[in-house]
Amino acid sequence: MIDKQNRIKIAIQKSGRLTDLSLDLLQRCGLKYTRGKDQLIAFGENMPIDILLVRDDDIPALVRDDVCDLGIAGLNVVEEKRLRFLNSSTTGEPFEIVRQLDYGQCKLCFAYPEGGKLGSIEDLRGLRIATTYPWIVADFLRTRSIEAEVIEFSGAVEIAPGMGRAEAICDLVSTGTTLRANNLREGETLMKSQATLIRTPLEVPDEKADWMARLLQRIDGVMQVRESKYIMMHAPKSALAEIRKLLPGSEAPTILPLDSLDDKVAVHVVCRENVFWETLENLKAAGASSLLVMPVEKMLP
Ligand code: ATP
Ligand code: ZN
Repeated sequence: MIDKQNRIKIAIQKSGRLTDLSLDLLQRCGLKYTRGKDQLIAFGENMPIDILLVRDDDIPALVRDDVCDLGIAGLNVVEEKRLRFLNSSTTGEPFEIVRQLDYGQCKLCFAYPEGGKLGSIEDLRGLRIATTYPWIVADFLRTRSIEAEVIEFSGAVEIAPGMGRAEAICDLVSTGTTLRANNLREGETLMKSQATLIRTPLEVPDEKADWMARLLQRIDGVMQVRESKYIMMHAPKSALAEIRKLLPGSEAPTILPLDSLDDKVAVHVVCRENVFWETLENLKAAGASSLLVMPVEKMLP
């Protein structure tokens, strides 16, 4: 029987861009859970893992303070809090970054008023930059030896130049529509971000550590499966060497004899990269026939 102490707590965003994708990831790892309406915690039924649903900004501190063992937030939030915590503590890294999860992609960019004089970060010396990520921006400016004033906003950063509160901004961008709507032009990218898994830097009891390792292995499997394909084809024995060269990201294929065909074999192989039409056309040109590409449901590396 697993007691409460040994249950893993993972914090994810309660309601926002990362919520559905994070829950989906955990479900694909095999976790079944019950979640009452508006409940802050969802209890795992078949694994000793419970999910805490909170604001993304609170996730790094929950992991630092050992309230949760794991957390998922955008790298932008993780890095901002890491710099902030490091500055106010003497105890070292507040958490460990364990995986980039391949969803929630966005970038943190500078942006300048359209039609104005500013065109690059070099022009920002002595000026004001509005952002919700003051620690990341200050750290970046320091590495470039640019002295500028960083002004912390808690939201709606893009209206700062129009209000006369700053000359430029630094904010998350995905399509650039919000920037254009506010008469701003996208500048340099400081950071590319995606959903990031963090864990407590503390040691956890053995039983918990085993489940954490299992969960990580399943997460790796889920990420791998997204791109992986199972390919089957018939191939002339004489073309095998060339066909192997054409298979993207594959390990050793399985070669099987074909009933009553001596000069051909069946080739089965898992490709760990997406398989495009072009690849199939090239395989066909090399002599392959009866090509079949299938999705992979689960994978344990
Ligand atoms: P919360 O209420 O949890 O504080 P929020 O408003 O801070 O929510 P969301 O807008 O849901 O957060 O974004 C969560 C994360 O999603 C961001 O921190 C970022 O890492 C990622 N993200 C992906 N695409 C975008 C985008 N186009 N704009 C903003 N964030 C994005
Ligand atoms: Zn937030």
